[in-house]
Amino acid sequence: MSAQNYFDYAATTPLDPRVWAAMQPYFETEFGNPSSVHGYGQRAEAAVESARGRLAAALGCQPEELVFTSGGTESNNLALRGAALAARRQRGANRLLVSPVEHSAVARTAEQLATEFGFELVRLPVDEYGMVHPQDVARLLTADTALVSVILANNEIGTINPISEIAAICRERGVLLHSDAIQAPAYRPLNVNDLGIDLLSLGAHKLYGPKGVGLLYRRAGTPLLPIQTGGSHESGLRAGTHNVPYIVGLAEAFELAQSEVDQTTSQLVRLRDRIISKVLEISASQLTGHPAQRLPNHASFVFKGVDGNALLMLLDDAGFACSSGSACKTGDPQPSEVLLAMGITPEWAAGSLRITLGKHTTPANVDALLTALPSLVERARALEGNLEINAADKHR
Ligand SMILES: *Cc1c(COP(=O)(O)O)cnc(C)c1O
Repeated sequence: MSAQNYFDYAATTPLDPRVWAAMQPYFETEFGNPSSVHGYGQRAEAAVESARGRLAAALGCQPEELVFTSGGTESNNLALRGAALAARRQRGANRLLVSPVEHSAVARTAEQLATEFGFELVRLPVDEYGMVHPQDVARLLTADTALVSVILANNEIGTINPISEIAAICRERGVLLHSDAIQAPAYRPLNVNDLGIDLLSLGAHKLYGPKGVGLLYRRAGTPLLPIQTGGSHESGLRAGTHNVPYIVGLAEAFELAQSEVDQTTSQLVRLRDRIISKVLEISASQLTGHPAQRLPNHASFVFKGVDGNALLMLLDDAGFACSSGSACKTGDPQPSEVLLAMGITPEWAAGSLRITLGKHTTPANVDALLTALPSLVERARALEGNLEINAADKHR
């Protein structure tokens, strides 16, 4: 199975050998605890602070504005819970404005803040492409809003949101904006000041870094309560011994990904566009997400009369590793809430397919997939007893 064609880079990426080389000494010889006073500790601390400095330079912020976490999920949890609870304590703010197309790490955290902590959760509308419009943020913002959260680049549908426009509105009204940017850094230059953002979540394993390490950018002065308590690590915002090799790996992976954005993007856009035009030749198929404002490595579809999980299994058997949407939802028979929020009917949403490319994807991989896919979709339809799909079903 190692010869499978991998089309699931939005779920995770292989570790870049250069990243592994940078990490390795911190497992073996430089294994110290950065909080220790002796030489081992000092060298480990220097490695953490050097990584922080490199990441700050790449993101256009100060090193003190970065908090290391255990991954994208934790960064999102810290941003939402930490900022919501701090805003309530500081100014009595009790309302959360969250897009309906968030990763579950944001969506479920916002729901828990509503059900267990009494926040009022207001969902922003999205258009048919899953995009949030700045004027809707302006319309729904109130003085008692603690936090707005809008995903930067969507993991399921690839749509890129106008974050800097949304940020300008939030800033004018004095309300914090968080964005989950975890899918973005391998494909877009990221600068926190250009974005005008207050809180930004990042993770390493979507950009050829290790799983289990992430970062929260927190603009200086942004009130945040720690959600993991203990030692005074990370200026008291995130307790726990630093994962030194992974933090070093995050910095290395992030720098490499950002420096290679142009190359990666031009290489992948052509392959992506070929996939989109070929797959849309299959009957009763539809692109999900924005046709232009989308990640360059991301193609996502729905097929009428198809069980998405059945299609994934057929693809897997045929040697293609794809996804139905978020890796965190695999096996869940419910149609994706992201697709439903965009107005796609449950019947179509059940047949979702996500094809995501990365720097190791070759034209030959894409050719093989495009050759195999049409008949696999027809087989999945036959399993559902849906043989009578015709051209009239092209549009929902
Ligand atoms: C992968 C992902 C996450 C979760 O990050 P982990 O590091 O896997 O916890 C959150 N949001 C988005 C958009 C993602 O793609």
